[in-house]
Amino acid sequence: MRMNISSPAPSPLFPHPRCDPRAQLSARVKVLAARNGLTVSAIASADPFPDVAEHLDRHIEAGHVEGLDWFTSERARFSTDVRNLQSSARSILSVGIAYWPGPTEKPDDGIPRGRISRYAWGRDYHRVIKRRLKALHADLERELDRPIETRLLVDTARIVERAVAARAGLGWYGKNACLIVPGHGSWVLLGEMLLDFDLEPDKPLDRNCGRCTICIDRCPTGAIVAPYTIHTPSCISYLTIELRESIPRELRPRMGDWVYGCDVCQEVCPYTGAARAMDDEELMPASIDNAWPSLRWLLEMTQDEFGATYFGTPVPRTKRRGLARNAAVALGNIGTVDDIPVLHRALSGHDEPLVRGHTAWALGKIGGPEARRALDRGRRLEPDAGVRDEITQALEMC
Ligand code: SF4
Ligand code: SF4
Repeated sequence: MRMNISSPAPSPLFPHPRCDPRAQLSARVKVLAARNGLTVSAIASADPFPDVAEHLDRHIEAGHVEGLDWFTSERARFSTDVRNLQSSARSILSVGIAYWPGPTEKPDDGIPRGRISRYAWGRDYHRVIKRRLKALHADLERELDRPIETRLLVDTARIVERAVAARAGLGWYGKNACLIVPGHGSWVLLGEMLLDFDLEPDKPLDRNCGRCTICIDRCPTGAIVAPYTIHTPSCISYLTIELRESIPRELRPRMGDWVYGCDVCQEVCPYTGAARAMDDEELMPASIDNAWPSLRWLLEMTQDEFGATYFGTPVPRTKRRGLARNAAVALGNIGTVDDIPVLHRALSGHDEPLVRGHTAWALGKIGGPEARRALDRGRRLEPDAGVRDEITQALEMC
């Protein structure tokens, strides 16, 4: 259907037939967004975000994004004005896909299993949202009967997407720094479409966390150092996904069974607890290993097995060695003497020194004579100095 915005015909798709064409077009864009599988959408102006730029500068100066080398002051300045991306941008459509699958429990099947953050259970949401935005863009061009200049953005540092979503009233900032969307909590993946025409901006929501501090109190590593402020170098999401090197020893015991990301500060939030269950097939796990993988298997998986299980999901970002490293830490936290044989094999045979080092830590954490024997043997045979150092410290833990 092509849209004539100067003299619209009354239609169920036009909720306010008497209002102005810009409001009608805005409503129509949201209808089409929903039809294209975007659960929520709202509109913001394309004006710059000078306050956000200043906030990000303070965040950088305080060291809260150490380790994210791309997160610089220059990048912050760039990302707070969408006209750096598209000079013709007049409006921003902020969209989200809700992905809470309903109550789920890690299986209690006697196999030590890790946890993958829910957003990474299914297909890579970057691709999912981009594809749906592209379809929406095509629909809009058909309706307006003209080419529309746009940029389609998903989880990129080139735009301050939570600030855009908050300005658009899609949700509001929680003290866990997540955007909380009414009806869906923070289980919403965001994207943006820049548009070269004026739409009617939605109003920001007048909501906040009030006196609640549950997420701050329950963060396992104390990474929420103040309301709305995450100290990235301590956050389990950073440690399991972005950090390429060794995980700081003092943080390992606090990481529990997380092997990719962390959902704790979302799971404990009362708003998120009241989220509606969604059944978006693309975001559902294809197998149990996409949600709660066996830690023993992760420690020994081949590159082919890694690819077969995780290709097309967000997990390859951490690479096989990162996931195996995280599995070693998780086994140290939740494993028992039954896991010593697999840890011993990994200590003596894993091809990545990074993994062998963390395996030594796990053996030291589980402790006991069998773990000590494995570590003694590892110390005699280990060629890598860094791993030998880990083994020495693990022996002291034993
Ligand atoms: S993701 Fe986990 S570690 Fe990071 S702030 Fe939230 S609860 Fe803390
Ligand atoms: S747990 Fe409480 S403080 Fe944290 S985001 Fe939710 S409502 Fe806000």
